[in-house]
Amino acid sequence: MSPRHGQQADVVIVGVGLAGLAAAQRLGEHGLRAALVEKRDRLGGSSAMSGGWFALSGTALQRRAGVEDSDGLFLADMVETGGGYADEALLRALVAGQGDAVAAIERAAAWTDELKVSAGMSVARAHLVRIRGLLAHLEDAAVAAGAMILTGHAARRLVTDGPRVVGIESDGGTLIGTSGVVLASGGFSRSRELLDLFVPDQAAAMPYGGAGNTGDGLRMAWMLGAGLADIGHVSGTYGQHAETTDDEHELLTANYLGAILVNARGERFTDESASYKLLGSAVLGQPGRMAFQVFDSAVRARSRPGVPLSDMERLEELGHLVSAPTISELGRELGIPGDRLERTVADYNECVAGRREDPFGRVGLVNGVGAVMPVATGPFYAYAAVTAMTSTYGGLSVAPDGSVQRVDGSRIEGLFAAGEVAGGFHGASYMTGTALTKALVFGFRAADTIALG
Ligand SMILES: Cc1cc2nc3c(=O)[nH]c(=O)nc-3n(C[C@H](O)[C@H](O)[C@H](O)COP(=O)(O)OP(=O)(O)OC[C@H]3O[C@@H](n4cnc5c(N)ncnc54)[C@H](O)[C@@H]3O)c2cc1C
Repeated sequence: MSPRHGQQADVVIVGVGLAGLAAAQRLGEHGLRAALVEKRDRLGGSSAMSGGWFALSGTALQRRAGVEDSDGLFLADMVETGGGYADEALLRALVAGQGDAVAAIERAAAWTDELKVSAGMSVARAHLVRIRGLLAHLEDAAVAAGAMILTGHAARRLVTDGPRVVGIESDGGTLIGTSGVVLASGGFSRSRELLDLFVPDQAAAMPYGGAGNTGDGLRMAWMLGAGLADIGHVSGTYGQHAETTDDEHELLTANYLGAILVNARGERFTDESASYKLLGSAVLGQPGRMAFQVFDSAVRARSRPGVPLSDMERLEELGHLVSAPTISELGRELGIPGDRLERTVADYNECVAGRREDPFGRVGLVNGVGAVMPVATGPFYAYAAVTAMTSTYGGLSVAPDGSVQRVDGSRIEGLFAAGEVAGGFHGASYMTGTALTKALVFGFRAADTIALG
């Protein structure tokens, strides 16, 4: 379907991933009609490709698992993970809006029983959600409430009336949103030009994420004077095989289950329990810009088939897991010179046994949590992984109500942003699951602000 020139809706939403669908669904609840434009032929963006992990605190699943968490701890962990760069007002709004996210996942019947500790968390807070089920539910509800979805339509420019944003120009014509425009166009992981501009040291990361995520929303708002947040901290995610296709991501974080990371020379080079974003940068500095996740059969037994980031069976099926009965044979398989891998593993095991201090400061499995274990029981395994630019967590400067702010902090009237296009939430590093939680919560938040002021 093409918009007729000057066609009107209450709100125009640019991009149909989780943030755009959440905004459309909530606008429908408020009795407002949304027109969504999606530049690709299929919906979903990075959201549909994602692992489906949501960071949430105080949930029924946590209570059932005996995990003690609270809004305050969630906030404190995010502040610490962000290294003092994230905007605390946004983080407070994110935590306060969690109830809406939980209710939406509930309505979509999209919960699983998977709960774990992951990057940036001091307790198990990453909840695995059936993301495609959630997206489908939001889409159905939005359409039932009168939302119109136009695929194959790229928004090119924001239309203004004086200082106020009143619509967009797309390939098919002008679309007017009488109550405003929500940018939900994702990040810029697929824009080499923007990566070169903002974070040239990351440009060698494997391009990944939704194919339409080329920073369009960022540029459109930028033209109206929008500010940026966290942009210099954008970094790739470590853990993907170099031959991964767009159809199925192959992210593995065996390091959070007990593996060590070694470079092509067989040397450790970092604290493996750090956020995979920090590991992403560290790996880009290694020979061949790759690192092996090396582990033993005890870690292999912790694999969770079908669970993103922990599914070793699938990687084995794809022929991407290497195994050998001894560490020295594994080293030979990997092309690591001499007995270097054996010496690295022996040194690491000394640290685990408490006979030496870990030279990289590793004290836990992930983010300091969980007991480290030796790499000791054969057979042994290795997964060769690179840094992929899955998501760019810096973006437009937004207020806690979802409105886009100019470089001087004033609001651009009629313009809102939600999801990966918005910055300020992650600061210097990243807590697993906060990108999807933020897309859902701030999709709703932008809709509420538009409807209720
Ligand atoms: C492999 C992978 C795994 C991930 N796993 C997780 C995870 O487990 N947990 C987590 O929290 N985060 C995860 N992320 C990150 C997370 O998926 C994203 O940050 C989040 O889905 C972004 O949602 P969004 O709605 O903002 O953008 P998207 O879902 O990317 O949607 C944006 C849409 O806008 C469209 N668009 C762009 N420009 C235009 C334009 N000019 N006109 C019209 N349409 C446009 C795009 O084509 C796209 O469909 C993962 C990302 C990847 C790639």
